[in-house]
Formats: sequence, structure tokens, C-alpha cells
Amino acid sequence: MTWDLIGHDWAVQLLRGHIQNNSLRQAYLITGPRGVGKRDLALRFVQSLTCPGAATSADPCLSCPTCLQVGRMEHPDLFPVLLEEGSKQIKIDQIRDLIHSLALSPYQATRRFGLLFDFEQANPSTQNALLKTLEEPPEPVVLILTAVSSDVLLETITSRCEVIKLNPVPLEQTSRGLEELHGIPAEQARLLAHISGGKPVLALAYHRDPALLERRKNLLDEHMEILRANSVERFAYADRTSKDPGKIEDLLDVWVTLWHDILIQSGKSAVPLQNIDRGDEIELILEKVDFRTARSAVDLFRRAHQLLGENANLKLTLEDLLLQLPTLTA
Ligand SMILES: [Zn+2]
Repeated sequence: MTWDLIGHDWAVQLLRGHIQNNSLRQAYLITGPRGVGKRDLALRFVQSLTCPGAATSADPCLSCPTCLQVGRMEHPDLFPVLLEEGSKQIKIDQIRDLIHSLALSPYQATRRFGLLFDFEQANPSTQNALLKTLEEPPEPVVLILTAVSSDVLLETITSRCEVIKLNPVPLEQTSRGLEELHGIPAEQARLLAHISGGKPVLALAYHRDPALLERRKNLLDEHMEILRANSVERFAYADRTSKDPGKIEDLLDVWVTLWHDILIQSGKSAVPLQNIDRGDEIELILEKVDFRTARSAVDLFRRAHQLLGENANLKLTLEDLLLQLPTLTA
């Protein structure tokens, strides 16, 4: 496992190649679902470009002061732009500050780095503020953006970046990585690989924070209740939950995994279940729904996700989703 990451070997090889062949791009966009490891890849790339031990190999040592500083995002030539605490969007002033900082010459490294994480959280005018810098970045600067997908950013932004699209890592490889790199016992590693859907950073978050696992369990329990509930109860649930916007995103992410499993199972596919600890409930739902229903359910979740990305009304979007999900009656 190169760069001590789980999966994404091709992306590591590509970036190492850019370093070794002296063919660095000035802007990269790393895309992929939450928890797949976009930020870790970006930081490893910066470590490979700054670690004194990586000069010829393009492999950072991950233990020298420079690697540790970069890992903590506290290196003097590294400028992260992240969603500020309590804020819903990346602010245009954050971009202006970044542009100002990048214009100065490097302090310690040979170049400066602008990291723009979860850039889908910047609205179009904030994204536009970065455009001129993307077109003509000051020398020597490397910009690294991350986003859930390139579709959610302005085309003018994505077209100026080398796009690196990260997919979930095969479950077997995720499980092995959790064992070998993080010392997680085999059985637990297998469970985490499955329930994270091959998203190693999410798997590790589940491992380190039992409260997250508990949250997933509760969300899946609530979903089973919803499927048995009538429309009045579903309306009430939407009303309660819409007061907790943070929960809705988690809920969509977790619930859809169940429907992916149902869809796959109803198509008699040999693909392993993501929710391997919920096999009985999946069987139960499969007795009541067919392939077409499962496929429409997955589509409903996609649509809800898209609407929320477009800032649609939370309560209406959730009501719409809940009322269209099938009902499991006894
Ligand atoms: Zn190092």
C-alpha cells in the first residue's frame, strides 16, 4: 500500500509520476463520495512534495517534522480553505485571503499549496473568485480542490483542473488495509469495510467513534419503523427531523445503502451486502418488494440528495421521499 493509504493505488501512481517526471499540474480536483479518502490523498501529495526524504522517491516518510506539520495542516506554506465552524458555505473572503497568501513566495518549501476541501460548499460567485488564480496561478503554486463530484462545480473550474476521481475501494482491499495499516482485528475490519461501503476514512471514523456506529444503527432502526409506518406517522417524522438539518444528510447516506443492498439482492447479483449486519431485515424487505420498487427507491434517494444540494426545502423534500417509499405491512 503506497503512501500508507487504503486503495486508490492508481491515483498515487499518477501523482508520483507527476512528481518524478517534473510534470506537476498547477491545479488538481480530487472527487469522490464522503469518507473515500480525498483529503488524505491531497495531504499525502503535499507531503511527497515537501518531505526532505521524498526528494527522489516521491514517497514521504510520514514521520519527519515536515510530514507531521502537513498532516496537521499547520505547514507555513500550506493554506487550507475549509468550511468554518457554524457556517453553511465557504466564504468569498476565505478565497480572497487564500489568493493573497499564495502571491507571496514560499517560506519553507519550494512552493506554496492551496487546499480547497469540499469545494461544492462554495456558491458560484465564491467559485468564480478562484477562477483567475486557476487560470494563471502564481509560480510556484499548486492548488488542490476536493468535491463529491465534478458535476457540482462550475464547468469553468473543473476544466482548469486535472480531475482525479476516487471510487469506493473493493471491500476485500479495504478490510485488509484496516488490518494491516491500523491493526484492526480481522472480523471487525470486515464489518467496517462492508458498512462503510469501501470508504476507508468512513470505516476508520466508525472504528474510532462508537457514537457514529450507534448513530448508524439508530438511523437504520428508524428506517425500518418508517417502512412500517402510515402516512400520518411519516409526516410527523419529516416534521421532527427537518428541525435537525445535519441529520438529514446522514439519514440519506445511511438509508440509501439499505436500498442498494435490496436492489442488488433482488437482481440476484453476487455482489456482497454492504449492511452485512442487517441481512435478516434485508430478507424481510425482499419478500415484499421487487426489483423495480427497489430501483425506484434508490432513485428517490438520488433525487432527494440532488434537491438538497440545490437548497430545496428540507421538510418538503423529506416528506416527498418518505411518502413515496414502499410500505411493509404485516
Ligand atoms: Zn517526511
